[in-house]
Amino acid sequence: MDKIWEEMHKAAEAVLGAVTISDYVTAGEVSAAVLSKSGKIYTGVCIDTCSTLGICAERNAIFNMITNGEYEIDRVLCISPNEGKGAPCGACRELMVQLMPGRYHDIDIMIDYSKGKVMKLGELTPQWWID
Ligand SMILES: [Zn+2]
Repeated sequence: MDKIWEEMHKAAEAVLGAVTISDYVTAGEVSAAVLSKSGKIYTGVCIDTCSTLGICAERNAIFNMITNGEYEIDRVLCISPNEGKGAPCGACRELMVQLMPGRYHDIDIMIDYSKGKVMKLGELTPQWWID
């Protein structure tokens, strides 16, 4: 595993931590780090609400990247309660595809940090409606 993945994992760990914000909102059970093409790491946590207003950690991190004026994703890493394993949900994949049509295939997604398993978004989204 290269040093950049380790830095991303540390960054995601730094914002990880479940909190109850109100009777209706919790956050931080999942965290994510996105590496932009410029090499900067952006983080985000999941936000869960009782009426589907929340957001996945990955999309929150991508929105953080966009908020800071960057639009190209290089890598995505997520720390989930499932021992950090798993792929981004369909909504997160869809956002990445729409953000980088024709170029999303090469985004590296950390699938299992403990094993260093990485997949390309193009492998995770075959036959997508946008090429
Ligand atoms: Zn998602």
